[in-house]
Amino acid sequence: MLFPVRFLILASSSAGNSAYISDGSTHLLVDCGLSRKETFARLEANGVNPHCLDAILVTHEHCDHVSGLPAIAKFLKKPVYLTQPTAAALETGKEAAYFQPFQAGAKLRIGSIDVQSFSLPHDAEDPVGYTFQSNDRKVGICTDLGYMPDSIRFHLQDCDMLLLESNHDLEMLKVGPYPWSLKQRVMSRRGHLSNDVVSQYILDDISPRTRKLVLGHLSEQNNFPALAHMVAAQAIDRRGLSNLDLSVLEPRQLHPFIEI
Ligand SMILES: [Zn+2]
Ligand SMILES: [Zn+2]
Repeated sequence: MLFPVRFLILASSSAGNSAYISDGSTHLLVDCGLSRKETFARLEANGVNPHCLDAILVTHEHCDHVSGLPAIAKFLKKPVYLTQPTAAALETGKEAAYFQPFQAGAKLRIGSIDVQSFSLPHDAEDPVGYTFQSNDRKVGICTDLGYMPDSIRFHLQDCDMLLLESNHDLEMLKVGPYPWSLKQRVMSRRGHLSNDVVSQYILDDISPRTRKLVLGHLSEQNNFPALAHMVAAQAIDRRGLSNLDLSVLEPRQLHPFIEI
């Protein structure tokens, strides 16, 4: 019996993003969009000792992904994996001593986990998503992207579990409170994924192997969790994916461990 891969989403919204993933022997933190105190409190509340973390991976330099990075990296004194342009875009202090820059698209071996990075179309210097493989399981993290290029569809093939962005409902965004320039940014090919794009991805491409789909990085102004859920659930029904379990992350709620 293989040890399950455990995945804990500490936060997923434009107010902060951070996730913990472990195969039982290697423990990783992906993004640090919460303060050190809050990150460690949420880990400990779920029975994870923050001192066990082996490495940090960063997706991109937007503050909802890195605001807690300096304090967390200096405290842990463990490697921080990020691309060179992302490292250059950060205002850094002593935590830069732990940076391990890599090229977007590189494959990394961190402890017992194989990590594949892939480029994302998003308005940051050099944003990446990741897949994690261990114990014959594959987990993908794919948020902060304006559309779904074929290269990303390729990397997300055969994920047992996938955290995918379902940021906004297009109509809510259009009539919502954002200034026009920000609406254009969010809608652009370097912005964020809409519920409809996620629905189309489910209809066209999601792998029959995927057993758990988690929708995250929802906008609090331009989406409702129930709406994102309904749109994705309809697509899952139409594809007849009866083994696919769907959940949507409420921006301000704590989420339990997911094991696959
Ligand atoms: Zn973000
Ligand atoms: Zn971003």
